[in-house]
Amino acid sequence: MIDLHVHTTASDGRLSPAEVVAAAAERGLSALAITDHDVLSGLDEAVAAAPANLEVVPGIEMTASWHGSQRAVHVLGYFIDRNSPELQVALQRAQRLMERHVDAVLDQIRKAGGVLQRQDLDRYRHRYAGGAALVLGMLEHGVLRGAPPGTGMRLLRLAAAEPRAYSVGEAVGLIHHAGGVASLAHPAKLKRGEPLLSAEDLAPLMAHGFDAVEAWQWIPGGWGSGHYLGVADALGVLVSGGSDDHGKRTTEGAMRLGAQPVPSAVLEALRERALALRGG
Ligand SMILES: [Zn+2]
Ligand SMILES: [Zn+2]
Repeated sequence: MIDLHVHTTASDGRLSPAEVVAAAAERGLSALAITDHDVLSGLDEAVAAAPANLEVVPGIEMTASWHGSQRAVHVLGYFIDRNSPELQVALQRAQRLMERHVDAVLDQIRKAGGVLQRQDLDRYRHRYAGGAALVLGMLEHGVLRGAPPGTGMRLLRLAAAEPRAYSVGEAVGLIHHAGGVASLAHPAKLKRGEPLLSAEDLAPLMAHGFDAVEAWQWIPGGWGSGHYLGVADALGVLVSGGSDDHGKRTTEGAMRLGAQPVPSAVLEALRERALALRGG
């Protein structure tokens, strides 16, 4: 079994890359993709920690904009060259944009009489501090409670309006340029309240050059791969699958990591596609 969607402390996971690798080995996985949000910094440690019988696939999950809407689309990349200069420059730009956003919101908070510092956000880190960390920080530090009437909601909206460094098409292009394949992450989460989207629903998004769609994904109540295997077939694309593990336990105390039956053949098809893209 394999798991192609896992986060570490390099972004918003709770386990270090080495701990994630150890947990995967313990569960008997043969392959694991590290897919941290908009960073590559966990990959070296994971690769170094992997035993001989566990393949660590270099991956990423890029937060991309879609049609200028605030709603982000998550783009998974596999078999990427983590030294790709274009990819590294784009990721650094994303980090700079987010830092400027955080500073601008903190400035507005100060103007509204609130007290919140950049270092207060460290404990809610999501790759680096962004909108979610700002919202949590405002709540915990009583900024909203203490703000003049009407100001709290304005600050929340401002914090949530995260800048996006790349569109979906750009993210897919960067992954291809870095020698990888791109998969659309958790389509079940794209539209609130509508986990089972159709091939027609996804076609305009997939047209940005995706090689695959994430079929095995967590849908409340089950892993629900069946529906998206059919969608992938209709669209003529490959599939990927993973637990989207962030190191948290389920209510029953189980780890998500490796908890769904993604067959190894899925990885071989993605690998072949990556090789074909590089060759041609
Ligand atoms: Zn995601
Ligand atoms: Zn994820």
